[in-house]
Amino acid sequence: MIDPFGRHITYLRVSVTDRCDLRCVYCMPTAMKFLPKADVLSLEELDRLCSAFIGLGVRKLRVTGGEPLVRRGVLGLIKSLGRHIGVGDLDELTMTTNGTQLARYAPALFDAGIRRINVSLDTLDASRFRAITRTGNLDAVLRGIFAAQRAGLRIKINMVALRATNDDEFDRMIRWCGDKGFDLTFIETMPLGAIDESRSNQYLPLSRVRADLQTRWTFEQSEHRSGGPARYVNVRETGGRIGFITPLTHNFCESCNRVRLTCTGRLYLCLGQENNADLREVLRAHREDEHLVAAIKNAIQRKPHGHDFLIERRQPALARHMNLTGG
Ligand code: SAM
Ligand code: SF4
Repeated sequence: MIDPFGRHITYLRVSVTDRCDLRCVYCMPTAMKFLPKADVLSLEELDRLCSAFIGLGVRKLRVTGGEPLVRRGVLGLIKSLGRHIGVGDLDELTMTTNGTQLARYAPALFDAGIRRINVSLDTLDASRFRAITRTGNLDAVLRGIFAAQRAGLRIKINMVALRATNDDEFDRMIRWCGDKGFDLTFIETMPLGAIDESRSNQYLPLSRVRADLQTRWTFEQSEHRSGGPARYVNVRETGGRIGFITPLTHNFCESCNRVRLTCTGRLYLCLGQENNADLREVLRAHREDEHLVAAIKNAIQRKPHGHDFLIERRQPALARHMNLTGG
């Protein structure tokens, strides 16, 4: 699949549910309204859709959400998708999770073919963790992370940089990840969906964070690429690796290789634009994949050149929340 700007689309992110057991302040409002279950694709339908994408050249697939591990039966879907790795049709199957259920699922994820996971962790302080996630228990997440490490999964921590919330914890997180052997990615908040507070109060440009960190840490440019938008540095003092995802201060669209599928079968061609295609209708209308494949190819031809996020706007740049399209 090649889009009109010559970019090869080889990476699919699938949000398998919009539901979540946490309510992170930057992601959703307290009274988040979730989709009616009838709108959500069955696991078999998700499997069929993902397999069609793999047939069209997707080599990397990330399962995300909402919280993917709260969807009942998700392990069956992951095991089923893992079959594509076994036969060489897929290079990598990964997951982004908040870690609350990892203690239970980690060995099974490894057995299904997952080798790397991203775990979101914005703080190492228990009461702060509760405040950011509104409902979460840090201890359970840490237990999950270590269970995943013991199961053989490589771990990358995703930390959203939030002004006046966790901006005094970056050094601690760098040290902790270095000690434990985890990669770390800092993420800028993106204006996706209405939340209870103002986004401009939360927003912290990573360019500033990085400049400040460089007064204390030695960053050496890394050639590492994870297939995503993060640019990496090696930290000389810890031997660890840090990525920076900076959608607002830096435009990473030129090399974009991905598309995103929601749990209702809507294909978003860019995280920062509304261009999408409803694949559920085609999927349900035809038992053969021919029409589905044509609809996917057609959608790829509508992939926009890039996003135009602007944090200063009063309204969110886009109405949909991150849990719908998946991070
Ligand atoms: N529930 C899982 C988790 O938290 O890892 C997976 C889905 S979550 C939407 C994926 C990632 O998006 C998380 O790392 C989260 O911190 C990030 N995220 C959510 N809302 C965001 C926003 N408005 N701006 C930037 N990152 C956001
Ligand atoms: Fe849930 Fe992830 Fe959103 Fe937090 S960031 S509310 S864990 S979907």
